[in-house]
Amino acid sequence: MKPLVYILRPLFFAPLLGALLGPALNANAAETDVLNVYSYRQEFLVNPLIEAFEKETGVDVKIVFAQEGLVQRLKAEGMNSPVDVILTADINRIEEFQAEGLLQAVASDTLNANIPPQYRHPDGLWYGMTMRARVIYAHKSRVKPGEAVTYEDLAAPHMKGRVCTRSGKHPYNISLLASVIAAKGADEAQVWLQGVKDNLARRPQGNDRAQVKAIKEGECDVAIGNSYYFGKMLTNDEKPEEKEWAAAVNLIFPNQADRGAHVNVSAAAVAQSAKHLDTAIKFLEFLSSDNAQRLFAAENFEYPLKDGVALDPLVASWGSFKADDRNLAEIVAQHTEAAKMMDRVAFDQ
Ligand code: FE
Repeated sequence: MKPLVYILRPLFFAPLLGALLGPALNANAAETDVLNVYSYRQEFLVNPLIEAFEKETGVDVKIVFAQEGLVQRLKAEGMNSPVDVILTADINRIEEFQAEGLLQAVASDTLNANIPPQYRHPDGLWYGMTMRARVIYAHKSRVKPGEAVTYEDLAAPHMKGRVCTRSGKHPYNISLLASVIAAKGADEAQVWLQGVKDNLARRPQGNDRAQVKAIKEGECDVAIGNSYYFGKMLTNDEKPEEKEWAAAVNLIFPNQADRGAHVNVSAAAVAQSAKHLDTAIKFLEFLSSDNAQRLFAAENFEYPLKDGVALDPLVASWGSFKADDRNLAEIVAQHTEAAKMMDRVAFDQ
């Protein structure tokens, strides 16, 4: 009989224990072991970080990557949405979620210590994760030292017919104009914008890299572009012609003697609908940690936001620079005005 008792005992107790502990265990699993992420940030940039977070914490991260439509999706899902964390490639995109009330404020001593105040929302609605500057690309010999060292130079008479840029409707240029409005007021910003338009060598077209190509090919002498494209072009083994485009230009950080270069950040936020709030905050804190900051920034030739984190060597070779330290939330607040101004001066026509 004895063996039977030993067999029966676990059989009897297991369901009882399961009934007693099961709900608690399941609830615990739901609270701590899963995280749902919606990402506009590209897969190859995010996946290494997700893997590191899963390895470190045991959390199972489920992630949806998209190029558009996530705001609409989240609105349709409402509070039933599974999403906990939203990742975007720039501040413009996080603003779209914020405008719809889809984000929730989170407070974290770790995030506040790691991310400087100008790169996070004052109430904790979003946090910058990596930074890039909107720089001037200038032809190495056709542009003389001192000719193009500020955004204002791009509107000056000596730049007539020498400037290239992508569309004024692109979020990168909307943000740059918004930063000028925030710094100088709308009237002065519009005079500047008209001046840049009057100096264009051709109608705005193409992406940031296409402007550097146009410099290489002699269509223009200076262009506006994001700093990380310099790294992407210089290391592009699949399209080696991009290395030649980049080799034709100097990267200039604008406005170093006054307000600093305009910068934008990739961002992370916790969704209003988050069912795994603690894990969501833990994930944001992880992204702000030394190792994640180093990896997240270096893989896209960007700058980490946490102080003291090492730069990618190529990025470091461009030298240090002064960034506009106005809170990005203040710049974001000028986006609507900036978009209207682009239309008013018919920038793309
Ligand atoms: Fe980009």
